Amino acid sequence: MRRTIRRLALASLPAVVLACASSAASGGAPVVPTAPAETPAPRTPRGRPELGVGGAPRLLAAPDPAAALAKLGSPWGYVLPVDHGIRADTLGKGLFRAPRSHGEHNGLDLLAPVGTAVVAPCAGQAHSGKTAGFGQWVHVVCALPATLGEGLYASLFYAHLGAIGIGVGRLAPVQAGQRLGTVGKTGNAAAPQIAAHVHFELIVQPSEAAALAETHSGRDQSNNPGADRFFALLGERCLDPSGFHPRAGAIRRERRADPFVALSCLTLAKPPLTRPAGALAEAFVPWSDAYGASAFDVNLGRGHPLAATLAQPALPKAWRPPALGG
Ligand SMILES: [Zn+2]
Repeated sequence: MRRTIRRLALASLPAVVLACASSAASGGAPVVPTAPAETPAPRTPRGRPELGVGGAPRLLAAPDPAAALAKLGSPWGYVLPVDHGIRADTLGKGLFRAPRSHGEHNGLDLLAPVGTAVVAPCAGQAHSGKTAGFGQWVHVVCALPATLGEGLYASLFYAHLGAIGIGVGRLAPVQAGQRLGTVGKTGNAAAPQIAAHVHFELIVQPSEAAALAETHSGRDQSNNPGADRFFALLGERCLDPSGFHPRAGAIRRERRADPFVALSCLTLAKPPLTRPAGALAEAFVPWSDAYGASAFDVNLGRGHPLAATLAQPALPKAWRPPALGG
């Protein structure tokens, strides 16, 4: 049966101004002296000195990371009301492309207690269902902001949910921030040794119809030109200016994006990372173990007022990850 595709006006969200006063040196070129690291550096034009006619240095315009990031914009929100980092327990690590018995992990496991709300980061359409491996799932399709690919669509997939609150048996419109369901342990996440989490995937498709038809099947590792365009723009407009990178591995698997990398570039509104209480604490891995950025603290998020640092600040001791032996 053919689905009716309803075009929805994207919620118009207030423009956000990036508070990231980055003066990260990334190119190895001489940098204009700035204020000491303890105080926020004033936003000064970056440039490289060049000897002028009279031998006096003058500045040539050079790419400004802060300006590049501000141009990117950040219209999306986060997918949980809390951020407890990545799941890593004795039955598996939740990193994107972590080894799995079937090959590689196609998504990211966001650690969160059972019952935590999961929300849409963007306005679009959603539907939901249940399968053996994924358990209860919700599929959300949103247009990507033009800065990361005019006309491209993101297919977002939440699995192992406990309850589903949208799109049962039919497509439903969804707003940014709308509750989709709750964290659960359904499908192949039911074992008691598996820490509660949301399996979250992000796939880029060149049209709304293709994104709505996306099944997130692990057997399908196809690529498309829209995904190539998205990754080129992501690199140029977010990753390169902020020096943002996974410490190991890749940011994509064909049309699939590392959801943390994509979300960090798409939103300024991430909740700050906190270590979960109780049994989940043993499975907690902070973002800074898996990602680095020269222009912001990956644990706080790109838009956090304290996130604009040149180096990852030391986390309070309570946030240190547990030894992940076994
Ligand atoms: Zn997973």
